[in-house]
Amino acid sequence: MPPGDRPAARNDHPIIRGEGGVNDDFPQGSVWLVGAGPGDPELLTRKAERLIARAETIFHDALVGEGVLGLAPPTAQLVYVGKRAGRHSKDQKTIDRLIVEAALRGERVVRLKGGDPAIFGRATEELEACRAAGIAVSICPGITAASAAAASLGASLTLRGLARKLTFVTAHARAGETLDLDWSSLADPQATVAVYMGKAAAEAVSRGLLRAGLPGETPVALVQNASLPIEQRFHTRLDLLPLAARTALGDGPALLLIGQALERTSRCAEAARRTLEA
Ligand code: SAH
Repeated sequence: MPPGDRPAARNDHPIIRGEGGVNDDFPQGSVWLVGAGPGDPELLTRKAERLIARAETIFHDALVGEGVLGLAPPTAQLVYVGKRAGRHSKDQKTIDRLIVEAALRGERVVRLKGGDPAIFGRATEELEACRAAGIAVSICPGITAASAAAASLGASLTLRGLARKLTFVTAHARAGETLDLDWSSLADPQATVAVYMGKAAAEAVSRGLLRAGLPGETPVALVQNASLPIEQRFHTRLDLLPLAARTALGDGPALLLIGQALERTSRCAEAARRTLEA
């Protein structure tokens, strides 16, 4: 291609996508599990935006931001099927059934899920329920909370030579059960650990990792409501994590990031951010 020429942006062309035609990727009676990203509507993919705009029914959970829901067409039916800790409004089987029923009625269904649908999002149950009913179902990926939190911190989740591994782990324990994680494999000084649903378990996470040998001064960042205007960021260390989580975090979704990669963030990026925000 001659210098200065731009490649044609063809992917979202209605003829290529076949809206209503043979190549239509969202025909009547089909389902998309769509990643809504961490909250900021600008962090949606263009594909997610296009699917939302064509949806007739949208099932969404508590983590989907208002700004994202605002992109739904006025004719779309929005159905809240959220599950926040301790406030289960609909169980997973009911959600699966509602999605299947809507698709069987011939509606175009978007199941909007916070972050990426394939990360701690119960996507498998919904995919299997659709497939068992003979419904076409696809996934549109989204930006996961760990990526959004790292971006807000101005940090990299990996660090050449120092953080060669990135682990996404959920610290959610079923009601009445204690958190049962493989602490010795998580306590890798060359890894970054992103803990989802970790607020209530912050003390257990800190204790487990310390006992498995991670130093108390291991850097930790907490990011609450990442990417939203009400976002909050805190820096602490592993031995002080329980105190920080108890005192600093409120109601919003929060991610814990643990490891050497967060060290630079606390020193440099916050200083740079203060300059920017001044
Ligand atoms: N599928 C989602 C994760 C669902 S599990 C994703 O890929 O991001 C829910 C957990 O994700 C929350 O308890 C919290 O730990 C994290 N989370 C989701 N959105 C967040 C946000 N905006 N800021 C911080 N953490 C978030």
